[in-house]
Amino acid sequence: MINTNSVKIGVIGVGHLGNFHVQQIQEIPQAELIGIFDENPERAIEISKSYKIPRFEVMEDLFAECDAVSIVTPTSFHHQVALAAMAQNCHVFIEKPITKTIPEARDILKKAENENLIVQVGHIEQFNPAFLAISDLNIKPRFIECHRLSPFNPRGTDVPVVLDLMIHDIGIILSLVPAGIKNIHASGVNVVSNTADIANVRIEFTDGCVANLTSSRISQKQMRKLRIFQHNNYITIDFLLGSVESYRVEDALPVLEENQKSFKLEGHKEKYVIYNKPDVKPSNALRLELAHFLDSIIHQRKPLVDGHSATKALELAIQIQNIIDELN
Ligand code: NAD
Repeated sequence: MINTNSVKIGVIGVGHLGNFHVQQIQEIPQAELIGIFDENPERAIEISKSYKIPRFEVMEDLFAECDAVSIVTPTSFHHQVALAAMAQNCHVFIEKPITKTIPEARDILKKAENENLIVQVGHIEQFNPAFLAISDLNIKPRFIECHRLSPFNPRGTDVPVVLDLMIHDIGIILSLVPAGIKNIHASGVNVVSNTADIANVRIEFTDGCVANLTSSRISQKQMRKLRIFQHNNYITIDFLLGSVESYRVEDALPVLEENQKSFKLEGHKEKYVIYNKPDVKPSNALRLELAHFLDSIIHQRKPLVDGHSATKALELAIQIQNIIDELN
């Protein structure tokens, strides 16, 4: 039985990202961190000592003491760990992508539905304060351009870059465009690892919107940008800087709000460009999404990125990956 004010939670897999899960969970008032499990005992001891939290030698013993777990193992293990946790009645937060395959994701959805358990997936950019800041804007995209580039790191290479990085932008695009998909053109190249390290896709939606996504894990510099073009409006989000800028074309000069500037459009007597850089309140996206998971359990409500939306993102990612594989 869950205490209405706090949720007993454990973390499975305390590698690079699991370390931050432990750190952030400790800062969330509605969380009671019960302990951690990692199949690598040395890593588990290190994290257990540095945060002074119990380490469990048997994963099932941790499940037995928890209402929920956060699964931060490599993607290949999400399915088996999530099913084992749900078998012991634990709600699950699963890092992105939900699983490596669609049948695995569907197993998790079925189990969660049968047992009435909550599944949230770590599509963290949907909790990025810059992305949250555009919720006040009227978003009706006609063209979207995404760049997600990062230097090479062997972590995450158990899956292609489409499932590792592009999945973030796929989830975002599906949350922004309400239409179905008409056409997909994709290409990708294995440069360093056994699967595509760089990929590009052009997705044409049935409402005419087009999204062009490029993801790379072999770039010299990091970039995480989303640009939305729509009638009379251009919006750009920098996920790394946590900033939003928008340019809106108006026929008459409106009363300007704070953070807004106006420019006369050259060659157009009656057109004005209104530049807006809304204040984005800095916040920790990981803490926000984990707190949202715990609140969803406490209030028994559907999380923002539930298992179904994460599975839709995975289905599109795998469709893209299959096109890339056929070309290679
Ligand atoms: P990592 O390799 O640094 O850590 C994984 C940890 O899991 C290791 O300590 C390993 O010993 C442990 N582990 C492996 N198999 C296990 C098992 N069966 N049971 C328990 N522990 C096990 O990897 P990482 O970079 O922390 O990535 C972990 C997950 O987080 C991946 O799914 C990855 O896609 C995701 N991730 C998400 C983001 C994001 O932006 N949301 C960023 C990085 C990683």
